[in-house]
Amino acid sequence: MVDGCWVAGEQRDVVIDPATGDELASVARCTAADMNVAIAAAEHAAAAWRGLLPTRRGAILRSWASLMYDNSEELAILLTSEQGKPLEESRHEVAYGAGFLEWFAAEGERAYGETIPSHKLGGLLQVRMYPIGVTAAITPWNFPVAMITRKAGAALAAGCPMIVKPAPETPLSALAVARLAARAGVPRGVFQVLVGNPIELSEPLLHDPRVRALSFTGSTEVGRLLLRGAADTVKKVSLELGGHAPFIVFDDVDLDKAVKGAMAAKFATSGQDCLAANRIYVQSGIYDAFVAAFAAAIARLTVGHGLEPTTNIGPMTKLSVANKCRMQIDDAVAKGARTSSARVSERLGPNFVLPTLLSDVTDDMLIVHEETFGPVAAVLPFASEEEVVARANANEMGLAGYVYTDDLRRALRLSERIECGMLGINTPSFTGPPIPFGGWKQSGLGREGSRHGLSEYMELKYVCFGDL
Ligand code: NAD
Repeated sequence: MVDGCWVAGEQRDVVIDPATGDELASVARCTAADMNVAIAAAEHAAAAWRGLLPTRRGAILRSWASLMYDNSEELAILLTSEQGKPLEESRHEVAYGAGFLEWFAAEGERAYGETIPSHKLGGLLQVRMYPIGVTAAITPWNFPVAMITRKAGAALAAGCPMIVKPAPETPLSALAVARLAARAGVPRGVFQVLVGNPIELSEPLLHDPRVRALSFTGSTEVGRLLLRGAADTVKKVSLELGGHAPFIVFDDVDLDKAVKGAMAAKFATSGQDCLAANRIYVQSGIYDAFVAAFAAAIARLTVGHGLEPTTNIGPMTKLSVANKCRMQIDDAVAKGARTSSARVSERLGPNFVLPTLLSDVTDDMLIVHEETFGPVAAVLPFASEEEVVARANANEMGLAGYVYTDDLRRALRLSERIECGMLGINTPSFTGPPIPFGGWKQSGLGREGSRHGLSEYMELKYVCFGDL
């Protein structure tokens, strides 16, 4: 959707159901020329949008969220059809995604700035916040609704237009969200979605100086490319890249609680989640008991089409992601890991990976070093707190971490020492609009959600009044 109009497009791209391989729809392919029109439309719309009262922008964002709630079932079915996740998770994502619009609707009214006590007599020192200008987002396929609203809610609330390039695998959810934005009264040019070839569409976004900020969620490899590409026009870049979260279970904790937490932190979104518990470190004293209980819980998961009500694990959205899981399993088994489940099923299609527990995983296996983006759980024994902290931190990713312990002193020590942007102590879930989502090290730059997320789309101006 460019400048309030649907693009006809000379060419079309097919969208498939990853569970069956069937064609769901085809979408018009936007070109670099369409992107240039979109950038001009955003630039044109920017002045009027930033000129609205924050309360008025907030009202429009709230209407958009209401329409998402009103249409949540249709959106969830569309999301599951093209992404593959279980329908209940899609319903949750739609509500989670709408929540960012509502939350930023209010936060946009609180872009207060600061008054600084003057360092000289008679001075008045102010810090003011201004919308940065035209913004762009390149979004992934694992959360095709929420990764758009988490970025757009903040940008629009800050007073900035946003152009979104969604993942080619999941354009239908993005276009449905754009249709609701238009119905909610978001003015033309303020929120645009262009579907097409990622490189062709990102080039104008990267090189046009009118685009002042770029927010990306996806792989570290593409994140690096975009960061380099944005350098020529010195854009503000926020990156939410991969994770490889450690999940540390100490032997003082209730086993059932830890297993329940590991199930939730590992298998949500069929494991295709940057927060997924990928390296599950369990203290030696409870290691065997944990593995047995975890294996039993994994065996109860049902794999199938996301629209089947009994499904817990859907297909991988991309075949390449399924193949990477198989490669990591093969590597671990070849190096001595034990596996709890059969890995192939003739009944399911090539995008399915059966939930698999790998135990006795050692630090030389690929799965310990590379992000696992699927339902494969690697469990590693550890002896001491000192040892596990060092092993958990020995990774270039630093997005999320999890610690399970009933010892409050230990919990406090680990909360200081684990190198990550988000840490859950005795909980598998901690995201939501008010929290600063983002990572340390090569997991990214900047934050989404929270007041920090709003500031990604704002410029600061410091003003010093001398003698008045
Ligand atoms: P990707 O980084 O290729 O895709 C994410 C987005 O980037 C999509 O919109 C895609 O079209 C776009 N893109 C791809 N190449 C681009 C380019 N050269 N220029 C501009 N945009 C480009 O991710 P993927 O290949 O689909 O998945 C691979 C791995 O990335 C996954 O296995 C996972 O480890 C990671 N990933 C992480 C997240 C996350 O939530 N942080 C999301 C998706 C994928």
